[in-house]
Amino acid sequence: MNTLYLKSFIRCKRKAWLDFKGNKSFEIWSPHKAIDKIHQYQIFSEFCNGDIYTGLKGCEKGSQGVIGFKIKENFFKNITAEINPQLLVKTLGISKWGTYKYLPAVYKLGNKTTKEHLLDLAFTSILLENFQESKVNKGLVISSFRGKINVEEIYLNKKLRKKVLNILMSLNQSLEGFIPEITQDRKKCTICSWQNFCDKEAKEKRYLTDIDGIGSKTALLLKINGISDIKKLASYSEKELGDKLFKFNNQKYEKASKFIKQAKAYFYGKSFYISSNNDSYDLLSKIDKGFYIFDIESNPDSKHDFLFGFLIKNNFLSKEKHPIYKPVLNLKNYKEEAYKEIINILSSNKEWPVLHYGETEKIAIINIGKKLNFSFEEVDLLQSRFVDLHILIRSSWILPTKNYSLKTVSNWLGFEWEQKNVSGSKALYWWNQYQITGKEIFLKKIIKYNKYDCLATLNIAEWLIKNKSKKN
Ligand code: SF4
Repeated sequence: MNTLYLKSFIRCKRKAWLDFKGNKSFEIWSPHKAIDKIHQYQIFSEFCNGDIYTGLKGCEKGSQGVIGFKIKENFFKNITAEINPQLLVKTLGISKWGTYKYLPAVYKLGNKTTKEHLLDLAFTSILLENFQESKVNKGLVISSFRGKINVEEIYLNKKLRKKVLNILMSLNQSLEGFIPEITQDRKKCTICSWQNFCDKEAKEKRYLTDIDGIGSKTALLLKINGISDIKKLASYSEKELGDKLFKFNNQKYEKASKFIKQAKAYFYGKSFYISSNNDSYDLLSKIDKGFYIFDIESNPDSKHDFLFGFLIKNNFLSKEKHPIYKPVLNLKNYKEEAYKEIINILSSNKEWPVLHYGETEKIAIINIGKKLNFSFEEVDLLQSRFVDLHILIRSSWILPTKNYSLKTVSNWLGFEWEQKNVSGSKALYWWNQYQITGKEIFLKKIIKYNKYDCLATLNIAEWLIKNKSKKN
C-alpha cells in the first residue's frame, strides 16, 4: 500500500486496483500527470528558495526542502505501507537529525483543497512521525496563482488520522479482491490513464453512462426503473420513458426522446438528423464567399491563450488539401502586437464569418476587443460573425458517439491528426516544455497540432453542409 494507491482510491476504487494489479500495457501516458510534476517541482523549488535536496541525505544535512524520499514501514495489522512525500519542509523542532524536523507538503493545482490533499498529508504524517522521531501536527498545501505562491496550513487532527486509517483498511481490502466496477461518475475518467481500457469494457457492457447527457444520477434512476443498459434504453418508447424521468419536470419527454435517440445511434452506429430549422443551409449561405476557421490553445490555470490559429478559405468549394493557415503566437500573457495582428486578420475580410468549435474562441475574441478598447458596438459586431459548430452539430444531429468533442466527432468522421495520440492536454504539456527549455521544437509541435484542430473543424463544416438535406 502506498500514497499513489491511496490517492487513486479516493478518486476511483478501480483505478487503485488497476495501478496495483492492472496490465501496464493498457495504461496510457497522461500529459496531466506530467504537467502536474513540472509545476510541482517549479513551485516547491521557489517556495524553498532553491534549497531542495533529494532523499534521506537531504534530511540529514537539513535542506529546507526534501523530495524523492521514501519511507516504508510495517503500518498496522501486518500491512506494509510506503509513502513518497511530494515535499518535506524543514521547520523548528527536535528530531533524530537535530534541532529541526520536517512537515509534509503537497502541491495543489487550482483553488480547491480536496480530500485527496488532506488524506495524503495525514497518511504521510503518520509514517513520518515514527521515522523522524518527532510529532507532526500540521501539513502544508502549496499552490500558485499568477506567479504568487499560496500556502495553506492543515491541522492533522485525530479525526483526519482516523479517517485515513479507515480508508487505508478499505483500500487494502479492495486491492486483495476482484477488479472493482467502472465508476458511475465517468467525468473522472477524462484525465485517467486507464481511460481506454475502461472505455472498451463500458462499450462492451453497454453502460448507460456512455450515453451523452446520462450521468451517474440519471443512470441510477433508469436502473431503478429496469433500464439496465443501452440496448434496453434504445428499445423504450419515448412516452413510457418520459413518465419515469419526473426529475426533469416539464423537460422529461424532451429528455426521454434525446436519450432514446442517442442510445439508438450509439447501439446501431447510426446518425439521426433532429433539427427542423435550416441552420445547415444558413451555414452554406454564410460561408460561400469565404470564411475563417479559428482555434486557440490555452493554459487555463494562468488564463493565457498562447496560440491563435486561423485557416483562411476564400472559397468553400475549393478542395486544396492544406488551405492557408496563419498562426499568431502570444508568448507573453498580454501582448498588444499579437492582439492587433489577430484583429488585422479578421478585419481583412470584414464580411466573412468565423467558424469555431466550442465557446472558448468567442470568449477570447470578446476579451481581446475589450483589451484593445473597442466600443460595445465593435465588440458586438465582431462576435456576431462567430459561428459555433459545436452548438450547430448538437442542435441538428444525434451522432453515434460518446460525446460531441472536436476529437470524438472528427474521429467518427474519419479525420486523422498527423501527430499520434494528441490532445489539448498534450499541447499544454508542450507549452510547459517550451517555457522550461525555450526550445522552438515545442512551439512547432503546438502549431502543427493547432493547424490540425482547424482542419478538423473545417471537416465538420464540410460534413454538415454535405448532409444538410439528409433525413432519417
Ligand atoms: S477510467 Fe474511469 S473507471 Fe477506469 S480507472 Fe479511470 S477513473 Fe476509474
